[in-house]
Amino acid sequence: MRFLLTGGAGFIGSHLADHLLDRGDRVTILDDLSTGRKENLEHREGDSRFRAVYDTVLNADVVRRLVAEADCVLHLAAAVGVKYIIENPLHSMRVNIRGTENVLEAADRRGTKVVLFSSSEIYGKSADTPFREDADRLLGPPTVHRWSYSTAKAVDEVLGLAYRQERNLPVIIVRCFNTCGPRQRGRYGMVMPRFVEQALRGDPITVYGDGTQTRCFASVFDVVEGIVSLLDEDRAVGEIFNIGTNEEYSVLALARRVREITGSDSEIRLIPYAEAYEEGFEDMLRRVPDLGKIRRLIGYRPKRTLDDVLRSVIEYRRTIPTT
Ligand code: UDP
Repeated sequence: MRFLLTGGAGFIGSHLADHLLDRGDRVTILDDLSTGRKENLEHREGDSRFRAVYDTVLNADVVRRLVAEADCVLHLAAAVGVKYIIENPLHSMRVNIRGTENVLEAADRRGTKVVLFSSSEIYGKSADTPFREDADRLLGPPTVHRWSYSTAKAVDEVLGLAYRQERNLPVIIVRCFNTCGPRQRGRYGMVMPRFVEQALRGDPITVYGDGTQTRCFASVFDVVEGIVSLLDEDRAVGEIFNIGTNEEYSVLALARRVREITGSDSEIRLIPYAEAYEEGFEDMLRRVPDLGKIRRLIGYRPKRTLDDVLRSVIEYRRTIPTT
């Protein structure tokens, strides 16, 4: 099959590209290299089944042309990372909403299947864990920049479902929960690569708030396997799926585990949210997916543990220059 991966040079996109190429598919990536990196797929250069186009999903002509050549589109291109969103609110909204509109509009011309990558950020600060796909959302005010990402992703989902309903476009929506692994960068805010980089440098490990907030850190390899299975399942069309793991750890526990596995003697430093992000920043205390729906449909069960994920991230960080 011919796949188009928008955001294919990014962390999750590049692993998906690898997986699809390994199983014999053809892959074109479209990436503006804002947070993605050419290096993530440089080992594929010269492969006749792989093509990279460096442009933005805001360029509707390019999107139309590339979508017309594909059998299936995985739309991952987005402004991501809590830190990045807060620092670039306008650009983030444009890319995350108009980019998706461009992809859906182009796919609608031939009825091409689209997988929209959404986020656990959809659930906002709801405390009703574990989150089921049909759960209510709870967001703070638009003045708190963090919530703009959740809002944009919700618009994307609504658009995707509307195309499904009115145009019968085959759309699948996946909500990724804290996906981690090699190639993820800390500079846009993601906690695991940040802690690993800090520990390896011997710098303080910066735990925001009191560190009791929890997350479920999934392996990108489990997530990729799950998504590829969904692609091959007709009953996934028109549906929304959480994906990730439900093994829950506090951020403080993560910091301690990173220090243990790396053998670092970095100090663990607590930093108030207002200092880390912006005044009025709101975090969610727990974020746990209900994975029942995806398990029932494709038998999805994450296989990798927190330690497996951490080891893969540490090994990767040891092999590349720090940024
Ligand atoms: N976090 C932290 N130190 C950092 C970066 C993040 O303590 O250097 C915290 C952050 O406040 C949040 C958790 O780690 O509670 C996960 O943050 P991330 O941005 O990776 O993902 P998200 O908040 O979207 O779950």
